[in-house]
Amino acid sequence: MKQFDVIIVGGGPIGIACGLAAKTKGLSYVILEKGPIVNSLFYYPVNMQFFSSSEKLEIDGIPFISNEAKPKRNEALEYYRRIVTSNQLDIQLFEKVENVEKRDGRFTVISNKNSYSASNVIIATGFYDLPNRMNVPGENLPKTSHYYDDPHFYANQKLVVVGASNSAIDAALECWRKGAEVSLIIRGSEVGQRVKYWVRPDIINRIEEGSIKAYYNTTIQEIRETEILIDTPEGPVTLENDFVLALTGYKPNFAFLKKLGIELSDDEKKLPQYNPETMETNVDGLYLAGVICGGMETHKWFIENSRIHAKIIMNAILHENSKIVEA
Ligand SMILES: Cc1cc2nc3c(=O)[nH]c(=O)nc-3n(C[C@H](O)[C@H](O)[C@H](O)COP(=O)(O)OP(=O)(O)OC[C@H]3O[C@@H](n4cnc5c(N)ncnc54)[C@H](O)[C@@H]3O)c2cc1C
Repeated sequence: MKQFDVIIVGGGPIGIACGLAAKTKGLSYVILEKGPIVNSLFYYPVNMQFFSSSEKLEIDGIPFISNEAKPKRNEALEYYRRIVTSNQLDIQLFEKVENVEKRDGRFTVISNKNSYSASNVIIATGFYDLPNRMNVPGENLPKTSHYYDDPHFYANQKLVVVGASNSAIDAALECWRKGAEVSLIIRGSEVGQRVKYWVRPDIINRIEEGSIKAYYNTTIQEIRETEILIDTPEGPVTLENDFVLALTGYKPNFAFLKKLGIELSDDEKKLPQYNPETMETNVDGLYLAGVICGGMETHKWFIENSRIHAKIIMNAILHENSKIVEA
């Protein structure tokens, strides 16, 4: 079995930052990623533009040059891929970690392809794999999706977009501009306050002029083949419908964290337990990095403010190693 100082689970921006930091510090490491490099970003909408400016997405000060101040998905794929290739980072792709077991002070990391041994493990698995489901009849129909890709697909179609945050609003506007008839189903009373400041007026104007029909304080009751049933403050309404984009957010894989022995707060936030000074969890030698740290508070951490986790963790590991050498 191959032995490492540190194994990083997840090859998103923060997992890559951890790999680079480990390499810089002279630690042996491998990144295990279940998809392609930066898998989550790969599945973002094709025209997606980050809310962060490019320098705030940089890793280790390596310049991220984008055409506009705020980079697009394709530019981010290029940037993070170049970090991996230029620095010859050891990343094993399409390799899913299924379990991490600790015995006699060492971890065994078990993937769908291999088993590895490590003194330390970093979990940087993000939250983009599991959508927040609406739990309504018809949610599993092929016309319903929790991921949005390309507006062209929805041209001339009756599209319902569920949600009021950036993903939902971007999708509603883009699809409407490509000729979809868009209805927006919003659970609360307004378009989300976190919607990008340059996009929010756009959607509000489109709603006010009647180009996009918004239903506030409304929930979906049922999705059928050619229509959907919604519950509005004025009572139930049936809308003709071809496709539903349920952009209701995503959540970390809590079952995976629990399997690894990481404790979660027992309120609805499900915050994983870790020491913010080291990022070490309640399991010695097991660390968390990136957006997974926020539990259900998925807006708390993003690339901008979590890229620092990589250096914090490597310093903590080196500090622990120096204690072992001294002893
Ligand atoms: C539409 C959208 C726009 C955003 N815009 C911004 C922005 O402008 N600025 C910003 O700072 N942040 C932004 N974010 C947030 C941020 O981009 C992402 O959350 C970011 O990808 C987080 O990085 P991460 O490395 O922590 O997690 P992720 O990028 O999600 O990486 C986790 C990786 O772990 C892998 N993985 C999961 N489970 C396993 C397993 N069992 N075994 C192996 N691999 C596994 C996944 O495939 C994935 O590649 C945005 C998010 C979304 C959804």
